[in-house]
Parts: sequence; structure tokens; C-alpha cells
Amino acid sequence: MLTSLVLSAALLGLAHATLVDLNTTQSDGVTILETKTFETTLTPANKIVVGGGTAGLTIARRLAESSLKTSVLVLEAGGSGVGLNVVTIPEKSFSFVGTDIDWGFTIAPQEHAGEYEINLSSGKILGGDSAVNGLVWTRASKAEYDAFETLGSPGWNWDTLYAHMRKAEQLEYPSASLIDEYGYVVDASSLGESGPVSVSFPAYLPIQHKTLVEASVELGHTFNTDAYSGDNAGVYYSLSSQNTVPVRETSEFAYLTPWETHKQLTVFTYATVSKINLDDSSEPKATGVQVIFPDGSEYTASLKSGGEVILSAGVVRTPQLLELSGIGNSSILTPLGIDVKVELPGVGANYEDHTMALLTYQLKDGYLSFDALSYNETLLEEETELYSEGEGWLTFAQAVVNFEPIDVILTADEIEEAKEILSTKPESTPQDQFDILKELILNGTTQVEYLLFNSFSAGDDKESNTSYVSLSITHTHPLSRGSIHINSTSIDDFPVINPNMFEAEWDQWWLAKATAYGRKFFQTQAFQEIVVSEEVYPGSSVSTDDEWLEYVKENLNAGYHSAGTASLLPKESNGVVGANLTVYGTQNLRVVDLSILPMLISAHTQPAAYAIGELAATLITTGSTNC
Ligand SMILES: Cc1cc2nc3c(=O)[nH]c(=O)nc-3n(C[C@H](O)[C@H](O)[C@H](O)COP(=O)(O)OP(=O)(O)OC[C@H]3O[C@@H](n4cnc5c(N)ncnc54)[C@H](O)[C@@H]3O)c2cc1C
Repeated sequence: MLTSLVLSAALLGLAHATLVDLNTTQSDGVTILETKTFETTLTPANKIVVGGGTAGLTIARRLAESSLKTSVLVLEAGGSGVGLNVVTIPEKSFSFVGTDIDWGFTIAPQEHAGEYEINLSSGKILGGDSAVNGLVWTRASKAEYDAFETLGSPGWNWDTLYAHMRKAEQLEYPSASLIDEYGYVVDASSLGESGPVSVSFPAYLPIQHKTLVEASVELGHTFNTDAYSGDNAGVYYSLSSQNTVPVRETSEFAYLTPWETHKQLTVFTYATVSKINLDDSSEPKATGVQVIFPDGSEYTASLKSGGEVILSAGVVRTPQLLELSGIGNSSILTPLGIDVKVELPGVGANYEDHTMALLTYQLKDGYLSFDALSYNETLLEEETELYSEGEGWLTFAQAVVNFEPIDVILTADEIEEAKEILSTKPESTPQDQFDILKELILNGTTQVEYLLFNSFSAGDDKESNTSYVSLSITHTHPLSRGSIHINSTSIDDFPVINPNMFEAEWDQWWLAKATAYGRKFFQTQAFQEIVVSEEVYPGSSVSTDDEWLEYVKENLNAGYHSAGTASLLPKESNGVVGANLTVYGTQNLRVVDLSILPMLISAHTQPAAYAIGELAATLITTGSTNC
């Protein structure tokens, strides 16, 4: 892999390519990457893509294949995911936390929830978060994507985003035996047929996940047989970003690997961009970027005349790089001694993430979850062997989700209470977003996701040799808005990550109600057959409204679906990019990643990141000013 990247660099005429002595060892899921001296000369490129993550590699590949004359340089802070079990094996999703491929971000203590830091791990690797995420592949409802256009960005609607999600994906239709065994259902006409990213159902479905389907139906929820064409309500079998080998699909494996020897596309790994270089014109022009390698050596990567920089460093690093380069709010930049090139207060603003709470139950004797892999060595050996044949537990990360609107969860009286709470706009929510969200909440768009983690994922009393499951309850449309801003001039320091969770009363109230409802799943006949009745966490001491509220405040998690720090909105609405994704006030700098999403959707976000990459490529190659 690296040889090929170096080769492609050589074909571009570089004096030296990245010299990486990559010794990759893995023990207990921990990746150790050793690097040595870097000696690098970077040749000017037509397009410089900062960040080889989900959206970054998507656009890089599409631009490189669009014209033989377009040279594309990708600069990625992490290394390759090739051969890393923690990346490739579906069951190991989330095992990257705390390893060298984790940026290790944390959310600052939240004023309106328990005052503790919240984990916000993220992939520092080619593929970015697509290499470390939970593999869940979902879409939201039409109205949620159409809201982007209503907020002021022509063409950013369901039709264009649906078309570009389909362009990214390729459905691997389940075999007859899998359908027979697990009941997998998917409407193939709603999915892409020939995109680079394979999506499929796992070869193994734990019984407890099948039980979540049965429990949902027992509770009267809809079983959705076509959740990928604009109506996502109900429980359904969700696809995963994995092929049928089965290996996780990352943007590296899907978009880069098949193209790695292509001479227009050059990828430098372990290349951390510290700043975008802008000229002094009144509407600044990017001339290139500053790059730092692990040995501390620093280089300038320059643009060819007429070229552009594409910022795809993700929701945390993209606003940081804009601010470090002098684009942002002068009240933040000036005190740090940064020369303000473009006054743009929207940079880092409008930040949000899904919020999540968990309930934990113990499985009855005879039923096992992934917990058993850590206390039963024989089982681990057997499953590892089975995985090499494409079967068994390790092929599974997730396959069942349940998205519901408020009227399925709340009583008639509670709906009246909800209306009362929503009659006042929370302080941090922009008025136009509030108006749209209120409409979505009260008119049947899904607001919560229930999903089962196949392990002990919350609580203090984990017993040895025991298997558990945890139900995650995710609020999919928080009203609270926060920010990500720098507080130093160094790329080595993390910016302050503050989604302002629970600032809105609605966000607290709804997550508490939806979490209390979560208990009902375990009281169904379907779950009672496989779980011990007594809840492990939080347990019977939590039952009143006040107790649930306190519980969610003290046990709040991020949904790992951060968005909005370089929003696709009109400038006067705290926007950072217009419909063609160019940063306001600049000539040739675009943002192409999840930072542009102006409002979160009721879905996991990787398909949106791929669609943004695909759509941006369409915009650039057709020279369009909007979609
Ligand atoms: C733990 C976790 C679980 C998730 N689970 C799911 C799921 O199951 N399903 C789903 O749909 N979504 C999931 N998501 C969300 C989804 O994966 C992300 O929203 C999406 O992949 C983000 O894409 P992106 O292109 O915006 O950023 P990324 O994919 O994060 O790409 C950013 C890239 O930029 C690089 N970079 C950053 N700074 C620099 C710099 N200064 N110089 C050079 N390179 C830099 C990073 O290393 C990274 O490769 C999850 C996310 C996480 C973190």
C-alpha cells in the first residue's frame, strides 16, 4: 500500500516521497505505529485535500478521475488502515478508542449536564471516522434533507443528496440463506447498485438483535421494509458498511485502494496540516498549506495556478484550521495574536452532536453477548477461526435500528407538555432552525433512535463470566447549539469542544422521556425470554420523571455524529460556506466534510459524509455555483 503511494508520488516527479518506517504491531487491540525521519518535497497540485477521511478521499478520487490534467494531493495526519484488525473486523468497531488511531478528543464539561468530560473519539487514519465507526448505514427522512435548502442553500435537498448517497454505495443483496435464517428485508430499488462503498447485512445476527425487532413490533411499532427511500420511521434491518468477505468498508478501501497507483492522485500519510496559506488580497486566495511530519519537519504544499484547497479535516479540525489561518470571529482570533484575514463569525459556531443515554440488562443463562469473547477463550478462538471463513460473531457490528417520532413514545398528555416546552425558542437555537425543527418534531419526523449494543456498555456492576446487552437511546434532533473554537495558536492543541448539550429544556425533557420508554422494550414478552427481569443499570431506583432527568444528565454520551462547525448557511445566519461550498470571503477554499451540515438528521452520518464528497465533486467538475 505505502509503496504504491510512494510510487504515485514519484510519478509526479517528487524529489522525495514520505519515508515511513511503519512497524505495525497489535496487542489487545492497541496499534503502535513507529515512524522515523521524513524527507519530503511536495510538488504543486491543482487540488490539495486536507484530511483523507470519509468525505476527503471521496472527493479526492472523484476529482482525480475527472480529468487527466487534475493533480490531487491528499494530506492525512494518520496512516493506512490496511491490515489493521481493529479497522477491518466489524465486531471490533469502537475498539480503536484510546489507541494511536484515535485523536482522543473530549467534549468539555457541559454546564447543563453533569460537569464531566465526555468522550469524542475520532479516527486519525486514512478513512477517518469511516475506519473506526459503528458501520451502521442509514438514511433520514426526505423532509430533513429538504430543510437544508429551506435554510438557504439552493439545491441541497433530498433529491440531490439521495442521488449522491446512491452514487457512493453498492448494495450487496443478502443471500437466500441469510434471508431465510434472519429475515433480512431490504428494497434493492432504494439503494445504489454500483458505488465504491459496499453495504451489506452481516453473516451473523445475534438473537438479542432479532429480539429487538420482535419487541418493537410487540410495542406496536411499524416494521419498515423500505427505510432507504425517504421514510425512516419504525424498526428495520439496517445495512452495514462492510462487504461480504466480510471486511469493513472505509473510504480508503472503497475510494483509494483501487486508485492508489493512479498518477494524478498522491496521498501523504502522517502529514498534519497546520495552516492554510492565504494571500493578502481583500478576498483572500489560498496559495497552499503548511504541513508537519512526525519528526517535526515542516513543508509548504503549494497550489498550481487556478488551484484550490479543499478542507476535509472533520468537524473538530476544520474550524480549527480555518481559525488558525485567520478566518473566523475576530473576538476569538485577535486576542490570540492571529491576523484576521476574513471576519466570519460562523466558523466553529452552530455545533451540535446527537445525545445518547443507555440502559443495561443481563442476559439469562444460555444466552451470550460479545462480553463472552473476553471471558471465554475457546469461544474467541472458535469465532476467530469462523471469521476467517467469512462467518460467525466477528462479522457483526450492528443490523437493527428503530427510529420513532414523538407520538409513538409519548402519551396524549405528554404531547401537550411537549408543545408547551416547544412554545419557547431555546437561547442557542437560531430562529429559522427552531421553526423547522419544531415542525419536524410535531409532525411525525423521527426524533429518537433505539439500538442495541451487544455488550455491557453502561453501569458499574459488571460481573465476571456474565453477558449483558445495553440499549442506546439517541436524541436525533437536539435544539441546543454550541461551538468548537481554538484557544491556542498550535495545531497540536485540541480546540475547545462544547456542543452546549442540554441548554434547551426540550433536549433534556425529550431524552429523559425517550430513555424511560426504553425500559418498555425489556418488559415485552420477547425480551423477557432472554434477559433477567431486574435492570442492571440504572435499575429500579430510577423511575420518576425527575429521576430520569437526573439520570440522563449524569450519564450523557455523545452520539459521535458531530456536525455544523462550518455550516452550509447564508453568511448572515452564521454560515461559513455557500451552496458551492466555498468559504465566504475567500476565492478558492472549500469545505467538504460533515462540518457543513447545518442541522443534524435522524440517521447515522457517514452516508451524508460520502454524499457531501460526491456532491462536492459534481459541483467542482461541472463548475456549478449551486446544486
Ligand atoms: C466512534 C464513532 C462511531 C460512529 N458510528 C457511525 C455509524 O455507525 N454509522 C454512521 O453512519 N456514522 C457513524 N459515525 C459518524 C461518521 O463516521 C462521521 O460523521 C463521518 O465519517 C465524518 O466524515 P468526515 O469526512 O466529516 O470526517 P472524517 O472521516 O473524520 O475525516 C477527517 C480526516 O481528517 C484528518 N485530519 C484531521 N485534522 C487533520 C490535519 N490537521 N491534517 C491532516 N489531516 C487531518 C483525520 O485524521 C481524518 O482522517 C461514527 C463516528 C465515530 C467517531
